[in-house]
Amino acid sequence: MFAHTPHHPGDPILSIQGHYRDDTRPAKANLTIGFYYDEQGRVPDLASVVTARDTVAAHPRTPGYLPMGGDPSYCAAMKTMLFDAEPGSPLFERIATIQTLGGSGALKVGADLLKGLYPQASVHVPGPTWDNHRSIFQGAGFEVGTYPYFDAETGTVAYDALLSHLESLPEYSVVLLHACCHNPTGTDLTPEQWDEVIRVLQRRHLLPFLDLAYLGFAHGVDEDRYLLRALVQAEQPFLLAQSCSKIFSLYAERIGSLSVFCADAELARRLHGQLEAAVRRNYSSPPAYGARIVDTVLRTPELLLQWQDELNGMRERIRQARVALGEALARHDTGGYDWGFLQRQNGLFSYDPGLGKTADRLRDEFGVYILPTGRICVAGVTSDNTETIARAFATVMAG
Ligand code: PMP
Repeated sequence: MFAHTPHHPGDPILSIQGHYRDDTRPAKANLTIGFYYDEQGRVPDLASVVTARDTVAAHPRTPGYLPMGGDPSYCAAMKTMLFDAEPGSPLFERIATIQTLGGSGALKVGADLLKGLYPQASVHVPGPTWDNHRSIFQGAGFEVGTYPYFDAETGTVAYDALLSHLESLPEYSVVLLHACCHNPTGTDLTPEQWDEVIRVLQRRHLLPFLDLAYLGFAHGVDEDRYLLRALVQAEQPFLLAQSCSKIFSLYAERIGSLSVFCADAELARRLHGQLEAAVRRNYSSPPAYGARIVDTVLRTPELLLQWQDELNGMRERIRQARVALGEALARHDTGGYDWGFLQRQNGLFSYDPGLGKTADRLRDEFGVYILPTGRICVAGVTSDNTETIARAFATVMAG
């Protein structure tokens, strides 16, 4: 039995974490995994979340399974937060939302739903993208294609190639779009570009599946919802996988949501039923704790304000880390290397395939860990390690 089990090489990002932990050099820096770190290099407990935890602890609920779609109060609060949809409004009724196990769980349940509804469709993800996108959609039985996204020559979105690729896809193809803070490139479309993409999606009858793991990390909660608002405005049905992992610093609670924006309320109810059926087949129902915490933050006006401040603070800290690293690099001779990408890119990550080629040297000579693809988690840059990182980057790029 089991003799044919193939070896699993491990997740390329997660397996680096072990090497980093075992690295005994004091001046080491981990810029690999996508965590938001505070200025002390810790994954923070947000004050709004700590208070919400106390509230939840003070009001324990009778244990029992949640409904398949999760905590109804959390789902309603999430719908309002994401779509500005007030309960009872026509818009609210047109959105089917369930609680999910993080953003990954939302992608998986969404993928299963789509496989049931559009068994012949293929899914198209940007090149490059978060590795797990491909695995999740393939795991649901889809063929996964790649559309051009990043132009490494110019360091910008390969916009013309992206548009003409979308034009060439068969009708009813699923197109995965990063709503903001594209992982790994940190390079997003402008509102005008999104508008044009939406026109192509509509003309070609393509189905957008949005991934929103970094709401508020690019420009702000309002600005970062441009794509989903524009899709609603355009009356374009879509799926939205959303994660609370980074934005509430609740990685281990596995909390997120999946929403489907539908043409009318009756369809939304049917979609909700199908989402529940997909959950039932996977894990039956989600855990309660993370949903209660997030629901408490979103429904308590002071906590909501405090969380919004904390989210703005996280974004601002990353922005400052980008500036500080850029300034430190400017004090070194880096052979004329253009570090402008650090300031241009949004969110947790910066991306530079040229720098990625030096990942082994950065690790071996300096204890600075980045991904060999060139993805750098800028949130890992703190005032304590900025100089170490700048010196390492400068040395490997200068010669
Ligand atoms: N989508 C993207 C683009 C991500 O970067 C991540 C997390 N790294 C996820 C989805 C998954 O989020 P979660 O950890 O909540 O499952």
